[in-house]
Amino acid sequence: MNYNKKTIYDVDVNGKKVLLRCDFNVPQDKETGAITSDKRIVAAIPTIKYLLEHGAAVIACSHLGKPKGEWKTKLTLAPVAKRLSELLGQNVIFAADIIGEDAQAKAAALQPGQILLLENLRFDIREEKNGADFAKALADMAEIFVSDAFGTVHRAHASTAGVAAYLPAYSGLLVDKELSIMGKALDDPKRPFVAVLGGAKVSDKINVINNLLEKADTIIIGGGMAYTFKKAQGYEIGTSLLEADRLDYAKDMIAKAEAKGVKFLLPVDNLCAAEFSADAEPVLVEGNIPENLMGMDIGPKTDELFADAVKGAGTIVWNGPMGVFEFDKFAGGTKAMAKALAESGAVTIVGGGDSASAVEKLGFADKITHISTGGGASLEFLEGKELPGVACLLDK
Ligand code: AMP
Repeated sequence: MNYNKKTIYDVDVNGKKVLLRCDFNVPQDKETGAITSDKRIVAAIPTIKYLLEHGAAVIACSHLGKPKGEWKTKLTLAPVAKRLSELLGQNVIFAADIIGEDAQAKAAALQPGQILLLENLRFDIREEKNGADFAKALADMAEIFVSDAFGTVHRAHASTAGVAAYLPAYSGLLVDKELSIMGKALDDPKRPFVAVLGGAKVSDKINVINNLLEKADTIIIGGGMAYTFKKAQGYEIGTSLLEADRLDYAKDMIAKAEAKGVKFLLPVDNLCAAEFSADAEPVLVEGNIPENLMGMDIGPKTDELFADAVKGAGTIVWNGPMGVFEFDKFAGGTKAMAKALAESGAVTIVGGGDSASAVEKLGFADKITHISTGGGASLEFLEGKELPGVACLLDK
């Protein structure tokens, strides 16, 4: 897949109406609807400012939550318009509908340097179904399409891919950053290229492992998914997470890595517990895990083994925690990995929701080259899949 896409720097936006797909899917207080983190709105500011300062009239749009085609007052983007106004220091005109009369009239009247926000795209079922008439109506309001919502580029929705059939499509600064850093890591990584995978399930990451086996020099596996691999090697794993139907796959992957000369590292010791609980007493186990215990985190020898393996790497991609990091007693392995990445001197990329929040929670975020904003999207990126919201952008 070609990640080398035209950006807003490659087009003259002066005097043009720009349809800008943002990710304003912000977390909200269940009771009051108040925005509990405006990080995603803040992240969109550089692209919006660039467009406005270069004479564009910006028609911003986004989804919020999962209204599934129903008009749900709780999921209105009105609070986002308000916060965006505050952050930009200028009025954000808000449309009472998406492609209806109000939106059309406000879009038609929009002047260079002004910004309009449409109502929640997913209030209309045709957004997620990529309805051609809906996409065309969105596109008809503008002359240029800019995609800056990386979290949705793996979806072929009307506002993420459909509109590109009617408008020249460019990446915004957020999407461009994701493409240039992650795309380069996958296409032409600075070597050695080390992939670190964790999290709960092997089955979620099969395509990631398949793809990375073709590209990486070292694959490190931790987290719950490691135990299926340990079992496949003949170890006892007690009551640890096991996907019995993936044992043959795990064996194949270990054999394939060996045949390809890819280093494939698994935990050599584990912090175990008798029950899945934050208060459980950690028990350090090397080798076979007794039948009453489950692996909850990697142990100190593994921390060292994995840290050594990332030392001297050129590029490191990390997706998925090394243990049940939500429980303090079992967050050590994930913390050690975050520290190892931060100190590696490599190009470091953290993808996926859980590993990203772990890095942030543990205070290493500013030492990582790039933390991807899209959980599902970055996983599909690592799978080497064609992303509809990227494929539709103009090639450089
Ligand atoms: P994922 O969404 O697949 O990246 O998985 C993230 C989840 O995996 C987190 O909620 C972790 O608590 C969980 N996890 C990591 N290691 C283990 C483990 N050893 N046993 C059970 N769950 C785990």
